[in-house]
Amino acid sequence: MEAPEHPPARGTEAWSAFVQAQRQRIVEQLERYNNVDTAQEQLAERGDLTPYQRYKIGTVWHYLYRALAKINEGSYGRCDRCGEEIAHSRLLLVPAAVQCAECGRKEER
Ligand SMILES: [Zn+2]
Repeated sequence: MEAPEHPPARGTEAWSAFVQAQRQRIVEQLERYNNVDTAQEQLAERGDLTPYQRYKIGTVWHYLYRALAKINEGSYGRCDRCGEEIAHSRLLLVPAAVQCAECGRKEER
């Protein structure tokens, strides 16, 4: 099930507009996680958070910030691991994707 829309060519105005829209989506996700972070602090003080929850929240933060850094660097949409372009359908699904699907799978192992 490949997304029908084709990606805008890099370096064009359409690409810049796409990246700006993605940036907005990432910022919105960060704002949601801001609330999670507050809850995390409270839970950590009481010791209610499992290590897995802590790990997961930390990982999401990491990727959201990394994706924003990539937008600033101009490397957004390129895999941090292999340097290949990340599939457009993947970026639409995961705006903060910093690795291609293949490298993402490798890291999960
Ligand atoms: Zn890759």
